[in-house]
Amino acid sequence: MAKTNLLDKLAILSDAAKYDASCASSGSAKRNSLKSGGIGSTEGSGICHAYAPDGRCISLLKILLTNFCIYDCVYCVNRHSSNVRRARFSVEEVVDLTLNFYRRNYIEGLFLSSGIIRNSDYTMEEMVRVARSLRLDHGFAGYIHLKAIPEASPALMEEAGLYADRLSVNIELPTDVALSQFAPEKRPRDIRRSMGHLRLKIEEQNDAPSTGGKRPPRFSPAGQSTQMIVGADGADDDAILARSENLYGSFRLKRVYYSAFSPIPDASSKLPLSRPPLMREHRLYQADWLMRFYGFERNEIVSGGDDGMLDLAIDPKLAWALKNRGRFPVDVNRADKEALLRVPGFGTRAVNRILSTRRHRTLRLEDVGRLCQSLAKVRPFITALDWSPGGLTDLNGLRGKLVPQPAQLDLF
Ligand code: SF4
Repeated sequence: MAKTNLLDKLAILSDAAKYDASCASSGSAKRNSLKSGGIGSTEGSGICHAYAPDGRCISLLKILLTNFCIYDCVYCVNRHSSNVRRARFSVEEVVDLTLNFYRRNYIEGLFLSSGIIRNSDYTMEEMVRVARSLRLDHGFAGYIHLKAIPEASPALMEEAGLYADRLSVNIELPTDVALSQFAPEKRPRDIRRSMGHLRLKIEEQNDAPSTGGKRPPRFSPAGQSTQMIVGADGADDDAILARSENLYGSFRLKRVYYSAFSPIPDASSKLPLSRPPLMREHRLYQADWLMRFYGFERNEIVSGGDDGMLDLAIDPKLAWALKNRGRFPVDVNRADKEALLRVPGFGTRAVNRILSTRRHRTLRLEDVGRLCQSLAKVRPFITALDWSPGGLTDLNGLRGKLVPQPAQLDLF
């Protein structure tokens, strides 16, 4: 394959992969010492960043094997009826690209997805061949994230899990009704069955005791994740979070990624004309974190009387605190961990630091300021040795005082 051809494919297939939110940004040009656009250049070639299980931010080559697809999901730029440039990598080309980028230190791994070619098993087999060749033929020790095709055979899923660090099956849309309207070839039952199968394999292999000094083979050690498109159908935030809550509970997913719908060329009239505000995606991630790490129930975050949507102007924890002022102020020197985690402005790290510091001394407001990021946000909701908010907690205009300026986006 001529070099320009390969670069062309790389441009098309990395661009086509950018709609998947499972790794964040793309197009990093940071470590590129070669002439821009050369082989190995990271500029515009789909280097994205993701978090490894140990919390490190790693760079991944994020590409599709092909953007040909026999399915016609209306929200997807790669759907069968879409008029886009198509390309397809061979298995060997993906393996070579990954190894070349890896050896040059541009990436620490591969994120591979694909349109459906011929059928689900054929497509999954091609993706498994990439991972198998990298691991077994080349001893590749980098990170591999494979998108699993829900309808593919269980045997292929099982082999994929032996090579991939993480597998993900996309749930695509918040409700089964929306999925049948927008992605008629996809079946919710298949998606759930695949997720259930992966859950069983992950738990079975990774919890198995070693026998005779031999560790059992790893199976998708970084677990499974999924992606949900936000704003393509009419689902409100409550419905989206309800689906996430169900997925975390039923399939022990590591992450649900929320991807704000992007308008696509020649789009179906079923789709909205504009994308939802990016802030909506951000608020959903915050709400998701509150459910997973802060002990909140979904119905506390988006409560019954609301319109089912999160407040775009303030983060969901602050919104909850303003609706539940009777729960405050919280005494930073006595409150238990659960109560501290509910204070706006305290993240999990700040709470852990407060708990360990107060073992040695009684905390003053100044101490709290050193342990958290925004004392201004915290002050109305806490008491400390030398601080009581007085009427501040119940102040009518408190919300106005705490609404951040548009440029400020902070996590709790
Ligand atoms: S299966 Fe649907 S979402 Fe996936 S590439 Fe094909 S058209 Fe796009």
